[in-house]
Amino acid sequence: MTRSTRRSLAVRALCTLLPTALLLAGAACGGGSRGDAPTIVLVTIDTLRADRVGCYGRAGADTAVIDRLAAEGVRFDAAQTTAPITLPAHASILSGRSLPGHGVLTNSGFSLAESVPLVTESLQKAGYATGGFVSTKLLSPKAGFARGFDSFDDRITLAPTRRGGVTGFPERAGSETAAAALAWLATVPKSKPVFLWVHLFEPHTPYAPPPEIAARHAGDPYQGEVAAADAVLGRLLDGIDRAGRGRVLTFVAGDHGEGLGDHGETTHGIFLFQEVMRVPLIVHGPEWGIRPAVVDASVSLTDLAPTVLELSALPALPGADGLSLAAVVTGRGAAPQRGGVFAESHMPQIEYGWSGLRALVQGRTKLIQAPRSALYDLAEDPREKRDLAVARASEMPALVEALTDLRRRAVASAPAAADSNASVSEDQMKDLQALGYAASGRQNRPAGVDLVDPNAINPLDRTEYVGLFA
Ligand SMILES: [Zn+2]
Repeated sequence: MTRSTRRSLAVRALCTLLPTALLLAGAACGGGSRGDAPTIVLVTIDTLRADRVGCYGRAGADTAVIDRLAAEGVRFDAAQTTAPITLPAHASILSGRSLPGHGVLTNSGFSLAESVPLVTESLQKAGYATGGFVSTKLLSPKAGFARGFDSFDDRITLAPTRRGGVTGFPERAGSETAAAALAWLATVPKSKPVFLWVHLFEPHTPYAPPPEIAARHAGDPYQGEVAAADAVLGRLLDGIDRAGRGRVLTFVAGDHGEGLGDHGETTHGIFLFQEVMRVPLIVHGPEWGIRPAVVDASVSLTDLAPTVLELSALPALPGADGLSLAAVVTGRGAAPQRGGVFAESHMPQIEYGWSGLRALVQGRTKLIQAPRSALYDLAEDPREKRDLAVARASEMPALVEALTDLRRRAVASAPAAADSNASVSEDQMKDLQALGYAASGRQNRPAGVDLVDPNAINPLDRTEYVGLFA
């Protein structure tokens, strides 16, 4: 048990006697030698599949830090991403919007439009010191991800000894990203509230865990990278603890998972099966009234920003289609009622001229909308091996309508398409190509054609081909 945890248990006992409104406003529960101001920490771990984390059921996962946070906090068992790829998913995390709402559809050729308000801007305006530290050049200021940050650090070094000897790969070791974040935190007065975002890239290809971790996961270097990210998370949280910040609220989330061949896709970016859509989402903050719980209801990464703002007693983000989880994480209520959560995959259409895909998760039922749509029962068939679209054809129209309804709400405040299109520099193109993305840097979708195009190639019919490049 860490120092902060021991202290927080005592504070929590006291805080439970106080009105919830006081807790939410952050009025009373700091004190001691620590700063009284709230510290909100968001850690996104790239390419982290939920079922490769111990608290999500993986034996021998080597994820003690995430598992401890989950045991002490709230673990969302059915959290879904909005897209199988980094930039759109992170745009959803920071904006509280699904893809139709924020307009960032793939990793290349898009940036977050100025007209899309971000959680970081709200916190900055409310007086928070805001720091963002990322481990890939994808999440760049040029793509709009530095907005609302006092300090944004995407310095990527390419030393040949890093990342298991892999050279020239445009990512930063998580240990360096965490060290940069802690160095910045040391410059912030304890009296000032903090929002700190740290993005770790370890589980993304190439899988090259440090030798001592690799040795524990021989033959499974992806799992080694998951363990490596967990170890970095531990060092980061220990550093925050040592910094003596008050009332720490921590969110840990994956941005999307990894195919690992389950449906023919090795990495991610095309398909919307659960190995890529289901992500870990954990909220930890005893001093914020967060009660240990496991939540089975489907939630979305779009819910993260609304939750941060409600817990901070700040106004909701205009145009967000995500829903606050503040009531459920503080034990005051249930997860929000909703018609489901949805995701979109645009890369097949934009980069390859195929049809795109959409997915809806509604309880245990999953629809993948494609030129030939698929239906799965996630309770009986969590690995999505038995397509029930024909057997349960009568249910399809209602599911499509639910998906359309969710999209309609998300589109209501969408930026003009031109706002979210960005030109891609030659350097960015090289980075994207090094990451394995085709990076055409432009939209190839013909005008008037829907994402799911019945006349185009169905990615679900090209699984062997997909396995060659994604
Ligand atoms: Zn990613």
